[in-house]
Amino acid sequence: MESMMIVCTRCGNPNDDKARRCKRCGHKLQSSIRPAPGPSAQWEKLEPMRSHITPERRAELMRMFEACAYSLAVVAAVAFSAVSGLWWPLYAVMAVVAVLVVVRRL
Ligand SMILES: [Zn+2]
Repeated sequence: MESMMIVCTRCGNPNDDKARRCKRCGHKLQSSIRPAPGPSAQWEKLEPMRSHITPERRAELMRMFEACAYSLAVVAAVAFSAVSGLWWPLYAVMAVVAVLVVVRRL
């Protein structure tokens, strides 16, 4: 009979089948004989994925989103200027975006 292992749902650390808590992180382990997965079990499955998005990663994504928004603002200003024949709004938008880029260090 081979020894059973329980893989921690939080950190992925393999634990002895008889262990009640993860050796590495102390997360409560589920029996290898799993009951029908309820909402809480599915939630625990999602935990490693959720913790994968660190605050740094989130900030990076936000910065990318901001950069895209600024680019769109410039494109919209160029389109508006081309259509209306007025070029001062473009310079205004460009100036604002340039300042924002410098301030936010994108
Ligand atoms: Zn663990």
